[in-house]
Amino acid sequence: MAVRSVALVAHDNKKQELVEWADENRARFAPLRLYATGTTGRLLSERLARDDIHKLLSGPLGGDQQIGAKIAEGEIDLLVFFWDPLEPQPHDPDIKALLRIAALWNIPVACNRASAEFILSSPCMTDEQHQPVKPDFSDYTGRKVS
Ligand code: PGA
Repeated sequence: MAVRSVALVAHDNKKQELVEWADENRARFAPLRLYATGTTGRLLSERLARDDIHKLLSGPLGGDQQIGAKIAEGEIDLLVFFWDPLEPQPHDPDIKALLRIAALWNIPVACNRASAEFILSSPCMTDEQHQPVKPDFSDYTGRKVS
């Protein structure tokens, strides 16, 4: 079976929820290749006792942008991003950029526990025939400037 790659990010007020949810879904996580921003990745590594999580920089130091780059390069199948709807973040522009690039490249995005649960339990996660349509931007020549 093709290994699905999942990127995980959680803002500080959401980290505990993400880690608990991941722990509850250990079995589903087991076959997945995991990427995470720095602190989220460290907490997941400890809780899941996995040393194979690809840890990127912390979000405010560029980790969100690193994940965005991996999405653009076709390396990520699912983004789980528990962002905080109640607190501004120092790297809000990076967050917007990450969500934009995920929408652009037709990557499923889970923004909270309920959506993450729906997506992780979807048959699409384990059906190797299922591949989301990869957009074709070969005709894209940039924005028209008039
Ligand atoms: P962190 O980054 O996992 O290093 O805390 C997440 C974020 O704030 O974007």
